[in-house]
Amino acid sequence: MKKMVVFNWKMNPGSKNEAKRLAEAVREAKKNSNFKVVICPPFVYLENLIKEFKEIEFGAQNCFWEEKGSFTGEISCKMLKNLGARFVILGHSERRRYFKETNEEIAKKTMSVIENKLIPIFCIGETLEERKKNLTKKVLKNQLLSSLKEVFNLKFKNFRLIVAYEPIWAIGIGRTCKVEDALETICYLKKILLDFLPLSSLLFFYGGSINSKNIFLFLKEKEIDGVLVGRASLKEKEIISMLS
Ligand code: PEP
Repeated sequence: MKKMVVFNWKMNPGSKNEAKRLAEAVREAKKNSNFKVVICPPFVYLENLIKEFKEIEFGAQNCFWEEKGSFTGEISCKMLKNLGARFVILGHSERRRYFKETNEEIAKKTMSVIENKLIPIFCIGETLEERKKNLTKKVLKNQLLSSLKEVFNLKFKNFRLIVAYEPIWAIGIGRTCKVEDALETICYLKKILLDFLPLSSLLFFYGGSINSKNIFLFLKEKEIDGVLVGRASLKEKEIISMLS
C-alpha cells in the first residue's frame, strides 16, 4: 500500500486563487510521486477543489456529529460526504486548545465520520510539560480510549481509522520528534488498539514539523503509514520536494 501524505492547510491560504495554485503544485508534483496525497483545505475551498482536481483526494479539517439542524456554523459529515470529501481530521491539538474540544466531543465526531463512510484522521499528542513529566503514554492512552470506546464496539469492522501521533511540542515550531521516539510511541499505540480493532482497520501517521528534509526519514519506516504536514504544505517548493 502507498504511503500517505496529508496536507493540513489549516486556515490558509487567503484566497480561492491561491488555493488553486497550491493544488496545481500538488497535482504536478504528484505525477512523479509514489505517495498517495490528500489535501485538507478550509471548508470554503473544498467543493471547487474537489471538482477541479479529480486526481487528488480531499478531506476536511473538522466536522459536527449531527446530520443537520440548528447548529449555527457547523458542517456535517453527510455534507462532506456529498461533496466528495473522503477524510476528516479530528482532535487536532489546535482544536483541543483554541476551541476546547473534549475527548467526548471528538468521540461523537469520530463515530459520525465512520458511520458516514469517511475516514477519520484521529490526532493525539502530548504537551512538552507532559512529556517532561514522563506522562506521554498515559496521556495518549487516555485520549485513545476515551474517544474510541464506541468505535471499538461497532459490529462492523470494515472501516479505516488513521491514528496520527502529533506531539504538541513538535507542531508548528520546527522541532521534530526523533524518528525512534515516534516509532516507539506508534508501536505502543498499535499494541493498545490491536486489543480492540483488526490491523486491517488501522493506519498510523506521524505529524509535527515535517518538511522536505525529514519526510523520508519517517516514511521509510515500516510502522509509519503516512505523515500529516502543516506549514510545509503551503510552500510550492516544499510540496515538490516532499512528493518527489
Ligand atoms: C499539524 O498541525 O498537524 C502539523 C503537523 O503542523 P506542522 O507541520 O506545521 O508542524
